[in-house]
Amino acid sequence: MTDAPAARLAAFLEQLEDARRARDVTLIVVSKRHPAALVRELAAAGHRDFGESRHPESREKAEALADLGLTWHFVGQLQRNKARQVARYADVLHSIDSPALVDALEGGEERPQRDALVQVNLTDDPGRGGVAPAELESLAERVAGSSALRLRGVMAVAPLGEEPGRAFERLAHHAARVRAIEPAADWISAGMSADWREALEHGATHLRIGTAITGNRPADG
Ligand SMILES: *Cc1c(COP(=O)(O)O)cnc(C)c1O
Repeated sequence: MTDAPAARLAAFLEQLEDARRARDVTLIVVSKRHPAALVRELAAAGHRDFGESRHPESREKAEALADLGLTWHFVGQLQRNKARQVARYADVLHSIDSPALVDALEGGEERPQRDALVQVNLTDDPGRGGVAPAELESLAERVAGSSALRLRGVMAVAPLGEEPGRAFERLAHHAARVRAIEPAADWISAGMSADWREALEHGATHLRIGTAITGNRPADG
């Protein structure tokens, strides 16, 4: 991992080209904790889709780079009291996990409907992000009927301590449940640096790749 991020991006895109088997896949480079300059460097190399997970760090970057017209994906947990603020700069919200969050996003008509994914909790721990699978349909229906959001599909993080392919297989099943409600909601946001090949095998349409492209993240602080 000594190469420049732009070189790692090119190398990753080459691997993705081999692995995606002619399917359309959107690569989201997760730039959390990295400076805006790194995003600018990857944008200069032609990349458009970036992921962030913490407000207001994400807002600062989106504002600093507003001249580039990038597509911003918010992939972190969305707090209700900050959700409207996030929806001002984020183009895609990957982590819709409760009806109360949808309520919080409504009423702000300052932008068109945001693309939204329902995050599914693939663990048995209710403290983890995402809606419990048993509540997926009702939440998806709520999003589909929302004036603030456009339901595009599902998102998940593979649980630690489980073979990721097995978890992504369950996610593919949950994705089908959502498509039964809204056939156009066919996005599956899954796969990070360590497990993107397994995610791709199970139908991922959006990969969220951080360290494999950006290098290690600066220490939290
Ligand atoms: C940080 C993060 C990623 C990227 O993780 P890497 O292991 O660095 O590729 C993907 N998804 C979410 C939700 C994240 O928070």
